[in-house]
Amino acid sequence: MKILVCIRQGLDGEINPFDACAYEEALRVKNAEVTIISMGAPSAKDFLLRLTRLGAKRAILLSDNAFAGADTLATAYTLALAVKKLNPDLVFCGRQTLVGDTAQTGPMLSVLAKTSLITNVMSIDEIGDTVTCTTRDNGTQTVTTPALLTIERINNLRLPSIMSKLGEVEIWSAEDLGADIEKCGLIGSPTRVVKTFENESGKRKCKFISKEELSQVIITALQKRNDTIVNPVPNPQKLDKVFIIGEGPRPFAETISDDITVLPLTNSEDLAKKISELKPNAVLWGSDSISKKVSAQVAAILNLGLCADCTLLETDGVELYMYRPALSGSVIAKIVSRTKPAMATVRTTQNGADIMVAAGYGAKDNLDTVRDFAEKYSAELVTTRKSVDNDILPYTMQVGLTGKTVSPLVYIAIGVSGAVHHIAGMQKSGTIIAINPDKDAPIFDYADFGIVDDVKAALI
Ligand SMILES: Cc1cc2nc3c(=O)[nH]c(=O)nc-3n(C[C@H](O)[C@H](O)[C@H](O)COP(=O)(O)OP(=O)(O)OC[C@H]3O[C@@H](n4cnc5c(N)ncnc54)[C@H](O)[C@@H]3O)c2cc1C
Repeated sequence: MKILVCIRQGLDGEINPFDACAYEEALRVKNAEVTIISMGAPSAKDFLLRLTRLGAKRAILLSDNAFAGADTLATAYTLALAVKKLNPDLVFCGRQTLVGDTAQTGPMLSVLAKTSLITNVMSIDEIGDTVTCTTRDNGTQTVTTPALLTIERINNLRLPSIMSKLGEVEIWSAEDLGADIEKCGLIGSPTRVVKTFENESGKRKCKFISKEELSQVIITALQKRNDTIVNPVPNPQKLDKVFIIGEGPRPFAETISDDITVLPLTNSEDLAKKISELKPNAVLWGSDSISKKVSAQVAAILNLGLCADCTLLETDGVELYMYRPALSGSVIAKIVSRTKPAMATVRTTQNGADIMVAAGYGAKDNLDTVRDFAEKYSAELVTTRKSVDNDILPYTMQVGLTGKTVSPLVYIAIGVSGAVHHIAGMQKSGTIIAINPDKDAPIFDYADFGIVDDVKAALI
């Protein structure tokens, strides 16, 4: 069994956390011959070399000036050439990178390398001529090999043993891959960042309240059910012929067009065919995991740019300008697509509970109190990564950059400090309420209402 693991080096120089899980998962497969591969600057050689100590038989660095500045499609194109050359039974990718945060490269690579695909893998249950996995949102799935799996944050990457030896890193250039330079790097990338600016959008003006006012605040917040939470700014100029896949993206579409057609979310082949036949100016997708997967597959089939997780759209009547948070949500990037139709996934409201109660690390000693409080309001309990990492609550509950994105009507953060990584996953919630004894905790900058108190004192 040959397994190829795609790995990206993060801005901190370390392995992208989801890729670390993909690597660990590959190392756990019995009798597997594991190869790791990364696209990056020549300096990434040492990074890959260190990782060979964990057990990969082979390490390959795709490095060439022609690869620089690649978006997800150009990256997938380059990786696909390597996959075809190496011919593995399985390709493992992390669900997404923290730098790009798109979850597109895996599905695009599966199209271009002609493998089957399972995304959001929580466990690999069987491997043979077929592979069966439990996924995060879509049950158990079985596909035939060769297959590509995108792995969630389901394990911890092992440490090297003292006796382990360094392997070797092969460097492959564009020429080694037989790559068409026009499809690589910046030249081959259909999406373009026009500009970036600091993201202040998540910040709110917090009104501090007493614990006695809490239930009334929650009731009032629930009554805002019909308010639009997302993207309320209509454009003076309109774009003709905009397609939305499912009803989710409609509030976004209505800000840029009066000419909207809905297509049901079916499979990538059917949708690619319809889009190429009917030639809309833009196609908008939701941000649930199936929409993310199918949109990336359609982009790869049609060779189109795809902007992920847009929070705002603008048009001058000709171009579509897509705005999205980048770099863990600290900046906003304005993006255009050089290919038509422009395609984007937009941050849609996910189905889920009206009220979510987040039990942060500061609530760890009072979990029963938080659970009772959540039950009283029929709220869904969610959490932060620190609570997950400390085995207090399961990963399926984690909200944030490396967890899930949620946008309930009311989000009550209890014992949550408000790290940007957590904020990225909940800032589109309707009303945000924070409970924390530290009045300077950053969470209050992102909350509409705050109670400066200890969990127990505030909830009992
Ligand atoms: C690459 C990367 C990705 C990450 N992804 C995520 C992610 O997806 N989701 C995520 O959540 N985090 C993520 N993190 C971690 C994130 O940076 C924070 O470390 C984490 O969110 C902190 O969790 P916390 O707020 O529960 O804990 P802490 O930061 O420890 O905060 C605990 C809070 O509880 C308060 N407190 C203490 N005692 C009490 C009490 N008795 N009652 C009430 N409050 C109390 C404290 O004042 C404090 O503000 C990521 C980090 C990195 C580096």
